[in-house]
Amino acid sequence: MILRKWQSEIITKYEEIKKTHKKFILKAPTGAGKTVLASEIIKKFYVHKKILVLCHRIVLLEQLERELKINHKVRKLGISDDIKCFGNADIILSTNLRSKYAIASLIPEADLIIIDEAHRVSPVGSAYQRVLNIFDERGKKSSHIMGLTASPERRTGNQNDQLGLVFDAIIDCADIKTLIEDKVLVQPIYRPHFIHDLNLNNAEIKNGDFPISVLSNAIIKSSMIDYALFIYKEERTKVIPTPISAWFCPDVAVANKTLDILKKAKIKSDILTALTPTGERNRILSDHLNGKIEAVVSVGVLIEGWDNPNCNIIVHCRPTLSKVLWGQSVGRGLRCAKDKDKCIIIDVSSNWSTFGPVEDLKWDLWSHRRSFIKFQNRFNWIAQQFDEQEKKSSFFICEGKNKDEERCSYIYKKDLYKDDQCPVCSSTACIDIHKEKLVDSNVSDLNLHGMFFDRIPRIFQELKPSVWNSLERQAWNYKSIEELTFLIFCKSFYYISGNKTNSESEYWNLIIEAEINVRKFLISKNISVTQQEEFSFAAIADGLLLGKRVRTVQAHYGIFMCGQKFEGHTIKELERKYQKALQIGERIVIMGCHNREKLPYFNAQLELSS
Ligand SMILES: [Zn+2]
Repeated sequence: MILRKWQSEIITKYEEIKKTHKKFILKAPTGAGKTVLASEIIKKFYVHKKILVLCHRIVLLEQLERELKINHKVRKLGISDDIKCFGNADIILSTNLRSKYAIASLIPEADLIIIDEAHRVSPVGSAYQRVLNIFDERGKKSSHIMGLTASPERRTGNQNDQLGLVFDAIIDCADIKTLIEDKVLVQPIYRPHFIHDLNLNNAEIKNGDFPISVLSNAIIKSSMIDYALFIYKEERTKVIPTPISAWFCPDVAVANKTLDILKKAKIKSDILTALTPTGERNRILSDHLNGKIEAVVSVGVLIEGWDNPNCNIIVHCRPTLSKVLWGQSVGRGLRCAKDKDKCIIIDVSSNWSTFGPVEDLKWDLWSHRRSFIKFQNRFNWIAQQFDEQEKKSSFFICEGKNKDEERCSYIYKKDLYKDDQCPVCSSTACIDIHKEKLVDSNVSDLNLHGMFFDRIPRIFQELKPSVWNSLERQAWNYKSIEELTFLIFCKSFYYISGNKTNSESEYWNLIIEAEINVRKFLISKNISVTQQEEFSFAAIADGLLLGKRVRTVQAHYGIFMCGQKFEGHTIKELERKYQKALQIGERIVIMGCHNREKLPYFNAQLELSS
């Protein structure tokens, strides 16, 4: 057997690992070849020794059995087997929950205990605890526990329930990036879309994740599944040799709805749940392997142990707060296969924006208390990406329309100072995720962009120019910083050019030019702006919605200023005006403005005297 580079490295280090650690985890990505490694370790280091392999799923067990029986005498424990010793077998395979008594008598005899999917090991859970206790009390002095996993992290808030309490080392064997470079895995290509009508904001979190019933209801009410299908129909034409996909759903209701729309779209598909009988299950998996079934919709069951290297599209319809779940399900698609060059990951669950690309995930043996909390912000990863070096680029949600006349909502990165188009629908209309503070507040509350382009033209129609032209003085007689913020934003929109810019300097020139005009206007009206800590998007939303904080005259006048510019400008120009007006408004409110202002580009005193 020719070993991969990372496997040989571990084999070389293995004696050393054994010497220093009693219980350790070997961590390598899904599809890297952990089973082969385990088999090789047994062959090289455990000749005539006894090995007990525990895993919690039958699928895994069968996979291991196939692999191991090539070189070893393997016995698989049945549910009613109650054996007292290894006998002829070198290796005994079992799910830990089966054959409870057998396992108790086998542990003291074993030289090595392998625990597959070791992140399942819970020091507080009774299943493995029993195994660990027996190992500690009656195990051989020279024996070891070796855990295998792709994602060695537990995510419960319980500080007693941590892998660090079970294993004394985690040995990082290989990471996804290296394995992609070494062509052991294929590159994942992400296609994240934001589902505006999926509302999980107020979901109560249980056991570190969204409760299934909450997810299910929210998904069914939303447009998520339709979106997933729309995107899928585009992507399935782009993969080679033929599209084979796995759809991950939180429960049977969502899975059935998904299956339904797939069938309506004439895509050969089937469903796998925990209740699918074994025979049926095997038929589906084998048809899926050879592509007779294009799409398998699954409820949880596929995530661990299922192995179809030909799968080249993963559709994630299961929002989660679990990094492990996200990592594993994407990992499922990365195995190499003949003619497969990549795996498309369609994410309509905001998991990508929450955790980021799977190849960049970091793992800890200890996860701090309630570490999942940060993932409730579904833009958690995106928020972290906006660092010093990345000042020039930001993530956007596309506001263009797709071929079905729905919002495109593709999440993509673009240069802040260029009018890059959405790579999916070529629209330039978009929401800046950082700007709109989606990163830290409720999305549906502050969808300023949609609000602006919806309300301005509608309300403007009803405003009589002769009346509102004469109300300027009254409108600028503001009472609060909210009213002033709203008016300044609208004035900025009024002044700013809608021209296209192609460089950072062009972009800033336009901004500064308009900012100077707004400042000139303000000091000419003897209006000063006290420096603010924050630019309030809520104030702008309030004005647009004719809310309570911006009074009616001020709100209508602001809308009147913006509305005048809707005529004679294309939607792309208006879009550019909107994005830049937010920046100008923010600059003036944060920097302040008064009649003694001296900025490199604006001297208030000089202006006043001229
Ligand atoms: Zn788009």
